[in-house]
Amino acid sequence: MTQILDGKAIAQDVRNEIAEKTRELKAGRGIQPGLAVLLIGDNAASHVYVRSKAKACEELGFYSIVLEKPATVSEKEVLEQIQAWNADPRIHGILVQLPLPAHIDEQCVLLTVHPAKDVDGFHPENVGRLVAGLPCYAPCTPAGVMEILKRSHIETKGKHAVVVGRSNIVGKPMANLLYQKAPNANAIVTICHTAAPDIAYYTRQADILVAAVGVPEAIHGDNLKDGVVVIDVGINRIDDPAAPKGTRLVGDVHFESASEKASAITPVPGGVGPMTIAMLMLNTYRSAAGEVY
Ligand code: NAP
Repeated sequence: MTQILDGKAIAQDVRNEIAEKTRELKAGRGIQPGLAVLLIGDNAASHVYVRSKAKACEELGFYSIVLEKPATVSEKEVLEQIQAWNADPRIHGILVQLPLPAHIDEQCVLLTVHPAKDVDGFHPENVGRLVAGLPCYAPCTPAGVMEILKRSHIETKGKHAVVVGRSNIVGKPMANLLYQKAPNANAIVTICHTAAPDIAYYTRQADILVAAVGVPEAIHGDNLKDGVVVIDVGINRIDDPAAPKGTRLVGDVHFESASEKASAITPVPGGVGPMTIAMLMLNTYRSAAGEVY
């Protein structure tokens, strides 16, 4: 029997725990976690993500600010806003929704967020701390994957984890989290990318496969071994005339064929996706509680 790893249920458990800890933080120390989100331009998907983040803040009893700026906003104004939030004691987490308009330097923006408020875990200081195994904010999506593995009691120690994808947001931090000499990690990690001559050579060796490819159903069950644990980070909308809206969401793994081989698998939607916001909320709580810096 293939276990379906229910990220939606796990994310709800995480959120319930944060809500409880937030009540204690407010009652005990008078601190309300605060998250500030800067949304630039009119990217439809970004608006959806930002609304979900604001809703999560409301549910958990966080203070939250969503500031929207037109795509024509100057880089100077963006950096000044971030600096104002860096100095604002009500704000414990700052998030600048990506992607940014071309005239704004993404690296410069990410560097301006104070590392102690960098709840997305994109500042080089947090990246370095993650690599060194020091307390840090890990990027939310790979941190969510680690939480799914831990809470589903999936052994990672000594297992061969194959991560397909090496983006700064998912693949690289994912690999770094998996190989740390730490409880619920300690895996042997291979990272694949487009220069691999034959991806299947690697995926067939995986005890744990993490797909962060950005290509719909790129990994087929034929290229997986029996008993593999499949974590599908991909979210892709594809045309499907049979679907009510004419489209549907699929992952980076071909779910049906992979399910025949896997001992456990995350569905899309309802797998890794819901964990990302839950981990953002957890990072913001940890910042407010002073657990990291
Ligand atoms: P990305 O920046 O496009 O990176 C994709 C990576 O996959 C790159 O490293 C690329 O290699 C590699 N790749 C692409 N095609 C490949 C192939 N045929 N064989 C081997 N490697 C290949 O994407 P991302 O931001 O990491 O996102 C990955 C997926 O996760 C997307 O579907 C995205 O929608 C999803 N996502 C989900 C969440 C969530 O909340 N669940 C969050 C973020 C992203 P090169 O480096 O060589 O180009």
